[in-house]
Amino acid sequence: MILVMFLFTFGCCRSRLKAPCQQPPRIVVKPLPKPVKSVLTLRGGQHLDNLHPALVKRARLLYERAQALGIEIRFISGYRKYRAKKPKKPGGSLASWHNFGAAFDLNLTHRKSMREALKNLNHDENQWNQLGKIAKELGLTWGRPWGDAEIFHFEWHPGHPEALRAPAFQRLIKVTGPKVKNYRRSWTLFDVVEIEDKS
Ligand SMILES: [Zn+2]
Repeated sequence: MILVMFLFTFGCCRSRLKAPCQQPPRIVVKPLPKPVKSVLTLRGGQHLDNLHPALVKRARLLYERAQALGIEIRFISGYRKYRAKKPKKPGGSLASWHNFGAAFDLNLTHRKSMREALKNLNHDENQWNQLGKIAKELGLTWGRPWGDAEIFHFEWHPGHPEALRAPAFQRLIKVTGPKVKNYRRSWTLFDVVEIEDKS
């Protein structure tokens, strides 16, 4: 991964000495600090398996920063296999970013279920907002603005629109196959320039 990132980052710039860079401009992400905790020590860390490594890194940083504020979380979902579905409304989303290894869900550890968390949303409001703030700092998109039921959801897919409507979905399945079997191939379309640590 590091080698790939290295070539990706510097391959273009080197050629710039001779000719203008042919690559489209890419978003440069400021490298994040290395998380301290290993995935294995995180509550629900197994749900981070099969996600994009840069998202796993952000999940770990979110966990650590929340913990430093006294907010304990556990991951409850991560990669989910794609199953073709009809959007709930016309022009709606055709798939979830979970299907592309680009989203995870979490809950507060003192809430035993999502239902309990939703029932106590007013009580936990401050903690959820703190999580949303940290997530934003890490470049993640939080589901809260879409409705209370999405409060558990965090996603990350730089360079792509939030909802996977037809045009974005078509672009992705061109590289993953129509059944999204090789979902990791979609990551080549992400605008990531970041040296990763080993997760
Ligand atoms: Zn989710």
